[in-house]
Amino acid sequence: MAIGPDVGGPDLDEIRKCVHCGICLPQCPTYRVLGEEMDSPRGRIYLMRAAAEGRVGLTETFRRHIDLCLGCRACETACPSGVRFGTLLEATRAQLRRGGPPARRRLLEAFVFSVFPKPARLGAALAAFKLYNRSGLRAVVRASGVLRRFPGLAAMEALLDDVPAAVPLPEVVPARGRVAGHVGLLTGCVQRHLYPHVNRQTAHLLSLAGFEVVIPRGQGCCGALELHAGRPEAHAARARTLAAAFPADLDFIVTNAAGCGAAMKEYGHRIPELTAFATRVRDVTEVLAGADLRLGPLDLAVTYHDACHLVHGQRVRLEPRQLLGRIPGLRLVELGDSELCCGSAGVYNLLEPDMARELLDAKLARIAESGARVVAAANPGCLLQIAWGCRERGLDVAIVHPVELLARAADAYQD
Ligand code: SF4
Ligand code: SF4
Repeated sequence: MAIGPDVGGPDLDEIRKCVHCGICLPQCPTYRVLGEEMDSPRGRIYLMRAAAEGRVGLTETFRRHIDLCLGCRACETACPSGVRFGTLLEATRAQLRRGGPPARRRLLEAFVFSVFPKPARLGAALAAFKLYNRSGLRAVVRASGVLRRFPGLAAMEALLDDVPAAVPLPEVVPARGRVAGHVGLLTGCVQRHLYPHVNRQTAHLLSLAGFEVVIPRGQGCCGALELHAGRPEAHAARARTLAAAFPADLDFIVTNAAGCGAAMKEYGHRIPELTAFATRVRDVTEVLAGADLRLGPLDLAVTYHDACHLVHGQRVRLEPRQLLGRIPGLRLVELGDSELCCGSAGVYNLLEPDMARELLDAKLARIAESGARVVAAANPGCLLQIAWGCRERGLDVAIVHPVELLARAADAYQD
């Protein structure tokens, strides 16, 4: 049964760049779990092409294969033909959205997209969660088993451990010592509410590295969630508003959330007037890797998980490892399958909890094998997902943003 009008859709020339070699298949998390060609990058591209050429309709089966894709872009890293799978996926999701979300996801999607990209609403929802958690209601709800009837809600509830106190940030953090430049800091939606200390530490490290840090108060969401869900108009509106919140003369706009950074670096692909803004976007590890940062010792064994939208979306692989490697005493243990998605993928873990769980289990097994007691990951979604898995499994492992380790090492430095 067709689910909507087959109009628009991904660029056929981009689709035709795929030469069906299959090199991307072993790197695709959903193919690794399901072993199905249609749940691989090559299979999904085949489906997109068949739809574009009118050989298949946008059926529920078609949608299911697209919905199951994480948008992790591991296939882009692997692809020798340079197929921009992320762009194809966004266009396909926009095409599918014209038929509306599937019934089983309608309510959850409505909640996610009316709350998550709006920092004030997200803050209010998290304050309500804090009350739910600390009042004892959580234990009652869990014991009742009612959450089993709502898998998406159950996944959201399980993911959150607690909500930390807010950490106010000044609008400007002055540079320490010789001024190396002026940068803006994106505070992010999830990051500002659930990992506010990471934002504070990011500003502190940039300041120590000689950067004046501008943190505009009114900044909103980068629009990444909407982009990946096939809502290009909402994404473009958020992108324009966010870019306008930052002064035009900054050297860089710094992010510490991989998903936000990947979307912002590609603003110019979709919104030409934001090209100049996009070229100034940097992950915090890119900026700090080239900076003069004095670090003291940390006696720790740490393993590093590559957040998909940092390693595949931004091709930032070396900088976080180099920075962690500069901390005296820190032993960096390579993580098996470090570039394989942990199942978080924006809100994928809420919308597709079963596949997300499979991928999380695989990630936890590799973490346990590493023997490290600290896992570093540069994206709030990965931090939440892996921390949840470790809590559930009783793994005694701390999950931190690399910035947290660098800030501790900077504090440990003595002249
Ligand atoms: S984006 Fe990730 S899940 Fe989707 S096809 Fe590519 S590798 Fe597979
Ligand atoms: S690696 Fe690239 S060209 Fe080869 S099948 Fe995958 S997407 Fe197509």
